[in-house]
Amino acid sequence: MRQSEVWKINLEGEEFSVLVNYRPRRSLGLRYDGQKKIFTCNVPTRTSRKNIEAFLSKYGQNLKRRVEERTPPKAIEGDFVYLFGERKEIPSFSSWKERKQKDYLKKTLLSFLEENVSQWAKIMKVQTPYQIKIRPMKSRWGVNNKTKKSLTFSLLLLHYSKEIIESVVVHELAHDFVMNHSQDFYSIVYHYCPDYRERHAKLRKGKYA
Ligand SMILES: [Zn+2]
Repeated sequence: MRQSEVWKINLEGEEFSVLVNYRPRRSLGLRYDGQKKIFTCNVPTRTSRKNIEAFLSKYGQNLKRRVEERTPPKAIEGDFVYLFGERKEIPSFSSWKERKQKDYLKKTLLSFLEENVSQWAKIMKVQTPYQIKIRPMKSRWGVNNKTKKSLTFSLLLLHYSKEIIESVVVHELAHDFVMNHSQDFYSIVYHYCPDYRERHAKLRKGKYA
């Protein structure tokens, strides 16, 4: 008995792979993986190919569009890297050793941050001199360690526009005055970065610019 098949389908002139799974179910279901660019279609066991194809052409294109809207593009793809919100080619980047790649990305972000943090520290009248560190953090964009006088930033920030990175800089420097995330804290943040909410939303959604 057939259980799964892989098809090629054409949607508005573009060819896609579809994994068709025949299952004991009542209705047809469709998913789309934006990274792998493949559809998965779960269908009742006796569904005809014609019906499945009609279903795909009816819903496939819309589903793909919706998924693509919420799937961020890859920050690094071959020799192309999103640097400060723009997709740039770094010749032979993909052939470098991982160490060299990381060092390059780290240095690029660090040189921007060193200048930007000192600019904002002046504007915000932050007295504490901070040491800037960069870590490949995934769960946080920045950490202010006031006792150690260090600001740690996520290496992932490098992919975002300078405006977006700046909003993280302002956030972390505001912790110099208020450690928690109270209203007092956010009134400092919004004073220096009135569109903080919009910039921060892009970080959450993986919108690089
Ligand atoms: Zn915070």
